[in-house]
Amino acid sequence: MDIPVITGTTQLLGVIGDPVEHSLSPVMHNAAIAQLGANFVYLPLPVPTGKLAIAIAGFEAIGLKGFNITIPHKQTIMPLLAGVSDIAQAVGAVNTVWWEARGWQGTNTDVAGFIAPLQLFERSWSKTIALVLGNGGAARAVVAGCTQLGCTEVWVVGRRAEKLNAFAESWQRSPIQPPLTTFTWDKLPELLPKAGLVVNTTPVGMHPKVDACPLMPDEMAMMQSGAIAYDLIYTPSPTQFLQQAKDKGAIAIDGLEMLVQQGAAALSLWLDRPAPVAVMRQALKAQLNL
Ligand code: NAP
Repeated sequence: MDIPVITGTTQLLGVIGDPVEHSLSPVMHNAAIAQLGANFVYLPLPVPTGKLAIAIAGFEAIGLKGFNITIPHKQTIMPLLAGVSDIAQAVGAVNTVWWEARGWQGTNTDVAGFIAPLQLFERSWSKTIALVLGNGGAARAVVAGCTQLGCTEVWVVGRRAEKLNAFAESWQRSPIQPPLTTFTWDKLPELLPKAGLVVNTTPVGMHPKVDACPLMPDEMAMMQSGAIAYDLIYTPSPTQFLQQAKDKGAIAIDGLEMLVQQGAAALSLWLDRPAPVAVMRQALKAQLNL
């Protein structure tokens, strides 16, 4: 891959967060920019808590074209933007921002990233029940994605009843109305046999605790053969959850494709052209030693 030449006309993109040192986005986006021969560069931009507003004003002053947002700014950036898409309002977090004459606009490409690999399947989503393990930040994008796909029901399972109630209530004021019901973890035996899509949004099984699985062996045995098992984790690949699901006849999808596709959706917004998805996937795999 040729190293892009930075000139006086090169336009700036980046990712803001604190920390940003471990972000995979610069590798993925700069590989895509090089492939396209676009006159852009994508930089890690560390922005501490308390400096967000001043950073965004500075980005406007220097004509930054757009940026991604990671922890801890995904929610706090929302009131600082001139516009926030319905999907980002529903998720309650912005991960992609671009500049327009009327000001900074924000959206959430995690939803498009999550559903991209599912859209390749010829499934009757209107007859599919989605079961989501975990009720944290990523679960919100998954619930919005399952709703966009048209799943007949979205069941979210969590550890704590009060947090589950707050999760359910938060959708009442949302531009997206998911067919949502929440359950505590002990209800899994009733839910698993009915779910055609089971999504792990917990960090259980993530490197380095690679032997952990969010479901017990007897719970794994309750999964429909032919169900889709989707783990948002991308290291290791496969996780215990996906390996065991495959052994039971399920179709496995890992989190790498979501990561690639949320990036591709952001890049095509900034550059106004299709992103080279295969190059982005390969750059990530190389970086992660996959
Ligand atoms: P988060 O906001 O911290 O939520 C994690 C959820 O998992 C919470 O509901 C938490 O329950 C639950 N949980 C944690 N440990 C658990 C355990 N031992 N047993 C049962 N439930 C447990 O994290 P997040 O931002 O949603 O991220 C979750 C995972 O998704 C991470 O592995 C992350 O890397 C991955 N992710 C991947 C992508 C991608 O592009 N592939 C994008 C985003 C996130 P409590 O609420 O009870 O603590």
